Amino acid sequence: MNRLAYLIVTLSAFTLTQAACSSDDGADGVDDSSNGTEGDSAFADALLSGMWADDISVSIETDTIVFSGDGYPNHDVLEAYALMDQSTIDVTATDTTFTIPRVPEYSETVTDTSLGTIGLAISGAVYFNPYEGDGTSVAIDSNFDVGGIPFLDACNGHPLGTGSTYHYHGVPYCITDVVDTDGAHSSVIGVLLDGFPVYGPNGEDGSAATDLDECSGHDGPTPEFPDGIYHYHLMETSPYSVTCYHGVVDDAGGGMGPPPGE
Ligand SMILES: [Zn+2]
Ligand SMILES: [Zn+2]
Repeated sequence: MNRLAYLIVTLSAFTLTQAACSSDDGADGVDDSSNGTEGDSAFADALLSGMWADDISVSIETDTIVFSGDGYPNHDVLEAYALMDQSTIDVTATDTTFTIPRVPEYSETVTDTSLGTIGLAISGAVYFNPYEGDGTSVAIDSNFDVGGIPFLDACNGHPLGTGSTYHYHGVPYCITDVVDTDGAHSSVIGVLLDGFPVYGPNGEDGSAATDLDECSGHDGPTPEFPDGIYHYHLMETSPYSVTCYHGVVDDAGGGMGPPPGE
């Protein structure tokens, strides 16, 4: 498929998605209330062409894009999750608002990601950096179970100790298994606080990306941005998630939901 045909397909899919969303309670879908330039809209259109959960509302403002939802992923979660104190907890919804720049800006200076929310997933849940609340324990390397109930599930996700803010610490297989295509670059699975999109592990030829920088990112074409964009990859090897932003961020973490309780 040539690029023009690809763009037409992408935009058609986007329009259909929004039309479907606007027919229910009116709260879903995109409210483009700004008077931005065509270039500004192009970024939002491309980002939102991903398979975002139907119950995520998106508002495109003059300088920002604001997402809101209930924080509960649109894939199955376990009935319970193990906690460090050997008790277990179930997942609860968490009202969430997540704001990114309307157009992300690359920065030569990197900013460390904080504990707490660093990105929003297309599932409606959020991304954390690799670490648990002590700032050094790598969640994926610290998995354990209590009577068969795991700390992290097969999606590399779990809630906070309160049951709120279900989050991923690495490749969210429940998402990538649905959106990725063999032999192709991964499809968008969310966006980080600096506005740059995030992907599963696969680079342009469909194998694991190998030219990532210190923030697990690189510049290049993706299915949603065929002309190329800076973007992050979540990887199956350490550091699994993203430890720094290469874009300008007002607030390096905690975009929605409380910080980790443990
Ligand atoms: Zn965690
Ligand atoms: Zn890539």
